[in-house]
Amino acid sequence: MRLRAGPRGVTVTGDPRRRIPRTDAVLADPRVVAAGEGAGREVVKGAVAAAQERARDGRIAPEDVVAETVAALAAGPRRVINATGVLVHTNLGRAPLSAAAVAAVGAAAGCTDVEFDLATGERAGRGRTALRALAGAVPEAEGVHVVNNNAAALVLVATVLAAGREIVISRGEMVEIGDGFRLPDLLESTGARLREVGTTNRTNRQDYAEAVGDATGFVLKVHPSNFRVEGFTAAASVAELCALPVPVVVDIGSGLLAPEPLLPGEPDARTVLRSGASLVTASGDKLLGGPQAGLILGRSGLVHRLRRHPLARALRVDKLTLAALEATLRADPPVRLALHTTLTDLETRAHRLAETLAADVVSSVSVVGGGGAPGYELPSVALALPERLALPLRLGDPSVVGRVAGDRLLLDLRSVPPSQDDELVEAVRACT
Ligand SMILES: *Cc1c(COP(=O)(O)O)cnc(C)c1O
Repeated sequence: MRLRAGPRGVTVTGDPRRRIPRTDAVLADPRVVAAGEGAGREVVKGAVAAAQERARDGRIAPEDVVAETVAALAAGPRRVINATGVLVHTNLGRAPLSAAAVAAVGAAAGCTDVEFDLATGERAGRGRTALRALAGAVPEAEGVHVVNNNAAALVLVATVLAAGREIVISRGEMVEIGDGFRLPDLLESTGARLREVGTTNRTNRQDYAEAVGDATGFVLKVHPSNFRVEGFTAAASVAELCALPVPVVVDIGSGLLAPEPLLPGEPDARTVLRSGASLVTASGDKLLGGPQAGLILGRSGLVHRLRRHPLARALRVDKLTLAALEATLRADPPVRLALHTTLTDLETRAHRLAETLAADVVSSVSVVGGGGAPGYELPSVALALPERLALPLRLGDPSVVGRVAGDRLLLDLRSVPPSQDDELVEAVRACT
């Protein structure tokens, strides 16, 4: 099969659109077959259609339809403009890093002093500047440690404080954290036993007090970050639990270090530690807005034991993570900016974009996402486009992922950093 009419640059007379290869010819091309392996026929056909469309508009040469299709199907993560309105979208890689964090990752990519003292020429504490920044942001924490993610933080805490012993936990907090992974299974995988107390909707101080005994490793409180129990509910406060003679560990989930006035129901590390918690665990890539990481903050003696356990070595974070985390703590990350963007600002952006795209501007509702603040709605604005654009936009490069509502595709602007507005316009133009 010959797809190229000749070397590029040769002038071909006649309508170039007639030279666009047919769909079945592109689908049969061995390069397309190889690139599309495992992608599913609809996705491959969508990539072909998008490439043909670009050739029809004259943006690529008809001879390049195969190459364009292969590029669209190429392995490796594709850049995505998140127009879903979900600020922390787990399937889209959770928090996007700030420009400062991206630069820090770039700078750390080669050899760095991550574990080396340049003044003495000797080995030094790994990631000490990042840990210092974290400790500075949470003065209530006597000690801090960072592991691979919050799940790893919980595994480390459970292993060190409760292997062969019991973790006392409310039945209302035995949560599934996503993709079929459940917190109780994770905790029990360490050899700790779960001592469930209370009921799904109500657990009080007395329930915990009756379960705590010689076998108790610690009491665990987990923030229900992806659902909300409403109605006849009760939960013991951290302060109440801290009166018990065992360590109290609080998994706050989202990674807020200090109270966030816009999300009053969301726990934060400073407040929880001030209430008396022994340890707090949290994710780095949810509301904190940084890289995937598990933060552990609290009593110095406990943190020291965690750091020295053999498992800590297996859960150790990469130098790139440490660099990104430190930069995230020093400047406002995109998740925080998105949360604080005013409706007026979103409307101004939407009208400017809508004008160039002939799209409608509609009101929308954003959410924080699986990363926290369940049920909490943030007013937003979206561009409304025909639903048929959803697939070509997803398959574009960068990909644009919106939300389909009825026969319309909504592109919610709260989750799109303003710096991506021009790219968003380009991407939509390329599909219309
Ligand atoms: C997200 C979450 C986890 C899991 O955190 P990862 O960083 O994804 O491992 C655990 N507990 C709570 C409460 C969470 O919200």
